[in-house]
Amino acid sequence: MMKRRPLIAGNWKMNLSVDDSIKLVREIAANTDQLEGVEVLVAPPFTALSAVKEAIGNSRIFLGAQNIHWEMSGAYTGEISGTMLQEAGCTHVIIGHSERRSLFKETSEIIDFKAKAASLLGLVPILCIGETLEQREGGQTFAVLREQLVLSLNNYRTDRMMPPSTILAYEPVWAIGTGKTATPLQAQEVHRFIREWIDKNFDSGTASQVRILYGGSVKPDNISDLMSKEDIDGALVGGASLKADSFLQIIRFDER
Ligand code: PEP
Repeated sequence: MMKRRPLIAGNWKMNLSVDDSIKLVREIAANTDQLEGVEVLVAPPFTALSAVKEAIGNSRIFLGAQNIHWEMSGAYTGEISGTMLQEAGCTHVIIGHSERRSLFKETSEIIDFKAKAASLLGLVPILCIGETLEQREGGQTFAVLREQLVLSLNNYRTDRMMPPSTILAYEPVWAIGTGKTATPLQAQEVHRFIREWIDKNFDSGTASQVRILYGGSVKPDNISDLMSKEDIDGALVGGASLKADSFLQIIRFDER
């Protein structure tokens, strides 16, 4: 079986000026240049994408956007298309973050369109799913996740093809920005469930290649335990990705 390469991705959300974004990515680049065996990605706000791309230069940091529109161009005021993201240097795009789902009312059907648009262009989607605290406490975690997977990956299911480069992120809503992390066992249980779902709905080759990131209050002191689990292939990091020191410690999880 092909080994999945760990990925540590920083979601900067609506934070950092262009200057601060450049400073941060330069510091990350300078300290990860020799690093083998782990991929690093940053997802700055749209306004900083091009400047961050330039600052990344030849270093191996991947650039991601935090959102995408499903059409390639047209009368969609305020939206950004995948081709525009590629023009700015993006190779990846976060889709369906729980903040987009809850604050901006994005449904799994919209997320499905976005994933399809990204894949058509060759942009790697980092597609987020996760349950709320109420759903977890009500014993609905797996039903909720199954429904999010079915609806958000509907186009892939119709085509009977999921690009193996697709990245999924399990982000329990109750763990995002709260300081509460799923235990490594809780996260592993869900990651295994997701991988089995891919196996059932696509094939075992795809299931073994798709990377599944964990997100939700990942910090330098919990990353190693999370990464020790078989089906956890990396992390989507919010708060702790805004400071070079904490993000670099997370990237260097296997030295801890
Ligand atoms: C996120 O927003 O994707 C996230 C995981 O945030 P935090 O690490 O701050 O919980």
